[in-house]
Amino acid sequence: MSGRFADPFAAPYFPRALAAAAALRQAPALGRIGGYETVAELAPTVYLGRRADGQLFVLKGSAATTAAELARREDEALRLIRHGFGGVLTVEEVLGVPGGPVQHLCLPYCPGGSLRDRLAGKDISVEELAYHGLALACALHQLHRHGLVHGDVKPENVLFAHGDEGFAGREPRWRTVLADLETMVPAGGRTSVRLTAAYAAPEQLAGAAADPAMDVWAWGRILREGLDLVEGWDWLDELAGQALAEQPGARPDAEAIIANFGRHLGFGTTTGPQLGADRPLVWYPLGTLPDLLDSWPRRAGVATIRQSVGWLAWLPECHRLYELGTVPALLRIEELSTRALREAELARAAALGFTCLWVKALVELVEKTGDTADLHRLLVAAQEWERVGEFEHEPDAAVLAQAWLMLDNPERALPHLNRGYTADREHPSGRAALRLHHLLAGDFELAAQIAAQPGRDEDEGMHTRWLLLMLGDLLAAGEHAELARLLDRIGPSNIDLIALIGCVLAGRRGPVTADARWRGLREHFRTISSGTSLKKLALLTEAAFQRGEYDYAASRADLARRRKVTRLPVNHLERAALEAVALQRDPADRALTARLTNRAELWVADGRPADPLLRLDLVTAHRWAEHLPPVARELLAFSGTPAAPMLASTRLCGDCGGAEPLGELAICGRCHRTWCAGCADQVCRCGGEVTRPH
Ligand SMILES: [Zn+2]
Ligand SMILES: [Zn+2]
Repeated sequence: MSGRFADPFAAPYFPRALAAAAALRQAPALGRIGGYETVAELAPTVYLGRRADGQLFVLKGSAATTAAELARREDEALRLIRHGFGGVLTVEEVLGVPGGPVQHLCLPYCPGGSLRDRLAGKDISVEELAYHGLALACALHQLHRHGLVHGDVKPENVLFAHGDEGFAGREPRWRTVLADLETMVPAGGRTSVRLTAAYAAPEQLAGAAADPAMDVWAWGRILREGLDLVEGWDWLDELAGQALAEQPGARPDAEAIIANFGRHLGFGTTTGPQLGADRPLVWYPLGTLPDLLDSWPRRAGVATIRQSVGWLAWLPECHRLYELGTVPALLRIEELSTRALREAELARAAALGFTCLWVKALVELVEKTGDTADLHRLLVAAQEWERVGEFEHEPDAAVLAQAWLMLDNPERALPHLNRGYTADREHPSGRAALRLHHLLAGDFELAAQIAAQPGRDEDEGMHTRWLLLMLGDLLAAGEHAELARLLDRIGPSNIDLIALIGCVLAGRRGPVTADARWRGLREHFRTISSGTSLKKLALLTEAAFQRGEYDYAASRADLARRRKVTRLPVNHLERAALEAVALQRDPADRALTARLTNRAELWVADGRPADPLLRLDLVTAHRWAEHLPPVARELLAFSGTPAAPMLASTRLCGDCGGAEPLGELAICGRCHRTWCAGCADQVCRCGGEVTRPH
C-alpha cells in the first residue's frame, strides 16, 4: 500500500469550532477583569475574557491570601512563561489587582477544544490521532529535556490552538498544544497531589518520585483510547503497548517515541513527502511541522531539504522570534542558535550571525527576567563570543558590549563598545550600549544625550521608544527645566509613561495634590500586569508618595521589589527609590548615606541575602565609610572591597574630559559623576557630596 498526504485538521469539526469562536467574540459582556470583558464562565474561577481588540483569552483567577501563596502563584506563572512554547500552552500575562492580593493568569483561548472532544465525537481518523500523539510526544520531550515531569497528561489537557502565534503576517494555523502546567514538578521530586487516576501510571498512584516515564504511560493510555475508535496501525498499537509497560524502565522515552513516528510517517507537500520515513504511510503538510522541527528526524543525505527546513531556515525564524520578544521566544532563540552552532558544516558568516542573535536574545531575556540562571546563560554566551573574537558586522561588537554591561563588567565591555560605536555611531546597538554604559555609571545626562541623537532609518515605533528613554533619563538626571520644556512641546499625550513622567516632574518641582490627572493615572494602572515595566512601577510609586498616598505607594513598591529585574545593576536608580518608599522614606533623597542605609536595613530584614553593592556605590561607600551608620557599614563589609581591575579601569573627568584610573578620581556620592584631582569641587552640581581617594 502506498502512502498518502493528509491534513490532521481536515475534519469538519475544526471549521465549525472556528465559527463558534467567532460568535463568542460578539457575545455580551458579563463583567470585567483587568482590561478584559468576561463573556462566559467556563468553570468556577475560570472565565472567558475578551480583550479590547476582540481577541479571546482564558482568565484563571484564584484568591491568594498570603505572601507565600502569592509567591507560589508567581512562580507558577513564571514556569508557564518559560516553558509555554513549541507545543506547550503559554501564559499571555499575569494580572495583579491592587486592593486585594488576587492574581489572574491570562491564557490563550483554544477555539478547537480538547482531544477529549475529538475522542467523544468518534469521527477521529487514525491519521489525525497519530498526529496529535506525535505533537504530544514532542511537547513532552520539550519538558522532559529540561528535567520536568508534567504529571497530569490526559485528553482534556491536549488542546487545539488557532492563530498566528504573534508573528504578524503569518497565516493563522491550527496547533496541537499541551496545557496546564500546574502539576508540573522536577523529575525526582514529589509528584503533585493532583492527578487523574485513569491516566496515572501505577507507580505514580503508589507515590513514587516524579519521573518522565509517568508522562509516557499517560501518553500510552491516550493513544490506546483513541486506537479503540479507529482502524489502527500495528506499529502505533505496538508503540502504545510499550508505553504502557508495567516497569517504568521498559517504556520508551519521548525521544524514542518520536523516532518511531519518524520511521513510519513524514511531512511534505501534496506532491510528495520531504521529511521523515523513506516510504511513509502518511505525510502531513509541512506547515504543521515547525513546532516539531527540533525533534523530528531528518532523512539522511537529502542536502537540499536540510537547507530549506534545517538550520538555514532557523535564522529568519530566530529574527521573527526576536521581534516577538517574549520570554519563551527568546529562550527558543537560545535553543535554536546553540543547536545550529553545533553543526560542523555551518558557514562562518552564518555562525557569527547565530552568535550575535544568541547574545542579543539573552541580553533582552535578562532585561525581562533578571533571573540568576539567565545571567549565567548570558555569561556563557558572552564568553563564547569573546573566544571566537569575530563579528559578522563591526557594529555587532556593541551587542557584546551590552552583554558585559548587563553582567556589570564595564571593563570588559569598553573595548567592544569603542569598536562597535566607532564603526557606526547611528547604529541602534551602539547607541543602546553607550546609553547602558552611562546608566551604569549613574550619568543620566549623558544617557539622555545618546537617546536624543537622531537615528538612521527609524520607524515611528523606534523613534517613540528612544524619545521615551530620553524623557526618563532626563528625569533621572534631575534636568527638570529641560524636561518641562520638552513635555510642553510634546503636549497632551495618550502614552501612559509620558503622563507618569509629567506627574512625577510636577511633584519634584513643588507640592502637589491628588488632582484629576493623577486620579486618571491611578485608574489606568488599576491592574498591574507582568507587562508593566519596572520604570512605570517606580514612577507610579514616586508619584503616589509625592501626593501623600503612602500605603498605595508602599504596596506598589513591594510589588516592584519582588521582581528579580529590580536587582539588575542597570535598574539601580529605580531600586533605590523603591527601597526608600518601602521604608516610608522620600524616594527623591538620593544621597549616598540615605541610599545605603535603606538598602542595609532591608537587607538585614531579608536575612542578609547575597546581594553585593553596585560597583561604583562600593567604591564611593568605601571612601565615605566613616560617615556611614553602623547598619550601612555592615552591608559594606559584607560586599567586600572594590576589585583592583575596577579601580585601575579608566573613567572620564566630568569637567576637563581627561581619562584617569577610577582609583584616582573623585566621585559624587549622589549622581556618580567623576572628576580628576584638579577639577573636583567640594560639592557636585547635583548637590551631592564628592568623595576623594584616601
Ligand atoms: Zn578634570
Ligand atoms: Zn553629583
